[in-house]
Amino acid sequence: MNAQFLRGKRAIVTGSNSGIGLGIAEALAGAGAEVVINSFTDSAEDHALAARLAESHGVAVRYIQADMSRPDQCRGLVEQAGGCDILVNNAGIQHVARIEEFPAEKWDAIIAINLSSAFHTSAAALAGMYAKGWGRVINIASAHGLTASPYKSAYVAAKHGVVGLSKTTALEAAGKGVTCNAICPGYVLTPIVEKQIPDQMKTHNMDRETVIREVMLSRQPSGEFATTGQVGGTAVFLCSDAADQITGTTISVDGGWTAM
Ligand code: NAD
Repeated sequence: MNAQFLRGKRAIVTGSNSGIGLGIAEALAGAGAEVVINSFTDSAEDHALAARLAESHGVAVRYIQADMSRPDQCRGLVEQAGGCDILVNNAGIQHVARIEEFPAEKWDAIIAINLSSAFHTSAAALAGMYAKGWGRVINIASAHGLTASPYKSAYVAAKHGVVGLSKTTALEAAGKGVTCNAICPGYVLTPIVEKQIPDQMKTHNMDRETVIREVMLSRQPSGEFATTGQVGGTAVFLCSDAADQITGTTISVDGGWTAM
């Protein structure tokens, strides 16, 4: 594979000013793609991050602010970018609570950001990909798109939805040079996971190290967190010619979680 094989392709990565999205943006830029990074904020740091990525990889990188909880802004992101060849739906949030105590507004926000945004961005991006006869839609689901955990009802429902949406997108795109797949990471130590640790400590009445070892990584037989670079590398692979016939499926990056 030519190291710069994505030269001439434009990628949009939603929710990419930190964590896995940033790792994917770095990996795609490293493979030569023009990249649009995104979040709901619009700070000097966001734009500085785009400039840093552009400089370190020698590609064009823009930061476009858009709130993925808002359908119009999801579609507006794709329009403002000028369409894309590679769409990575990554933005996501989490909330951990028993169903009886789960705030309705948290349920709505998780479904909107983690699931519905991928529908709206895809709706705006697919026609341009079909017209070019090449495209990649990569949805970041989760091991929780394939299995469940207690206290994560909205997240598990949204991620199972992302897997289903990916299959339908793949069927509609089949034969048009466009693939769609879902990457299912296990635990990756990013801000979304850091923020869960206090809630998990409270729910399980455990200290931080015990929660990491006995609650989080107990599901991951490798006993190690996956890294943002490994998820980024998987996204780059899905953009390669070798992945032309990989569509409508899931790729786990979970240290063996879903083998159990
Ligand atoms: P993170 O909190 O570091 O990143 C989430 C990103 O989404 C951030 O850039 C944030 O700014 C952005 N975001 C949040 N709300 C948004 C909104 N309304 N509009 C636009 N952007 C918004 O977390 P992460 O771990 O990097 O998570 C990225 C994705 O990977 C999520 O979909 C998450 O569910 C998924 N995932 C994470 C793990 C893990 O262990 N970290 C495992 C499986 C799947």
